Amino acid sequence: MRWSTSKAVVGSFEGCEVVRVLVGEEQRDFNLHRKLLCDSCAFFQTHIETIPSPSSSQDGDEDEDSVLWLPNEAPDMFEIFVLWLYQRRKFSSFIETATQRISPDECRTMRTNLVHLHLFAAVIDLPALQDAAMDALQDTYLRFDWDMSPRFLAFLYGDCDAQHAVRLRKWAIAMLAWTLHGADEKAAVMAGQLDRLFAAYPDLQADYHMHLHKMAQSRADVRIKNPQLRLPANKLRSGERLFGFRQCTFHSHRATVGEGTCPHALALGHALVAMPVRRRDNKDEIESDGSDADRLIISPVRDLNEISYLDLS
Ligand SMILES: [Zn+2]
Repeated sequence: MRWSTSKAVVGSFEGCEVVRVLVGEEQRDFNLHRKLLCDSCAFFQTHIETIPSPSSSQDGDEDEDSVLWLPNEAPDMFEIFVLWLYQRRKFSSFIETATQRISPDECRTMRTNLVHLHLFAAVIDLPALQDAAMDALQDTYLRFDWDMSPRFLAFLYGDCDAQHAVRLRKWAIAMLAWTLHGADEKAAVMAGQLDRLFAAYPDLQADYHMHLHKMAQSRADVRIKNPQLRLPANKLRSGERLFGFRQCTFHSHRATVGEGTCPHALALGHALVAMPVRRRDNKDEIESDGSDADRLIISPVRDLNEISYLDLS
């Protein structure tokens, strides 16, 4: 993965310092609050610290300022990252609203972006973002009752770094087992491709058999234990866990929580600081995530309706 910085623009809008981020080979332009980005994780803090602030640059000459360029990331994925960055508390409801508003094909595109968002979060080591992306993925699969596809598995086991994809793989394997043990046509289609997938990706085969072993140990029935369904608590009665998975089963912090409360739920109980931000073309008003609910900000990202991206279905 390659990251670079180069000469470009850091500006200041309405008294808030903004950093310019270019994403992808096309260098799609995002103007984001410097503090918000730096506070999100060490990755951005480290990379943005090297960019001079307007106050330290000479005479506010924009042409002499700097930019962060993420050449290997997808701009459409990054738009969803920006939504999360600015509206964490409303992220899940925003995704849910989007799935109601956009077409199934567009939802598949959004799904693909969420997968890449999860991988991006792994790369920059931002567990809260990983887990928000995972929640959104599960909810979207549940809404449309999607199964796991051979193409998605081939992507996770053939194209992705094993460490970055470890949580996605865990969830995908659970989805594979659930799909295979269904009684419908999709199960037969997947079963017909299983030998080819196992031959191509031995790790997939090992993970699948390990999953079945764990399910058998816990006396779970893979025909009805649905990985689309994230149950709204970690401490469950025995009957509840038959039909879905604990809230944090596929979260990156899973091992440290046990049956306790999801740390992201606790963190989201605190209001984020709202900061006014204005996009250069002054489009797209979206309510901020701050405690001042009446204050509207101009979102630095476009609407999810406009996203277009590689489909993994
Ligand atoms: Zn959790």
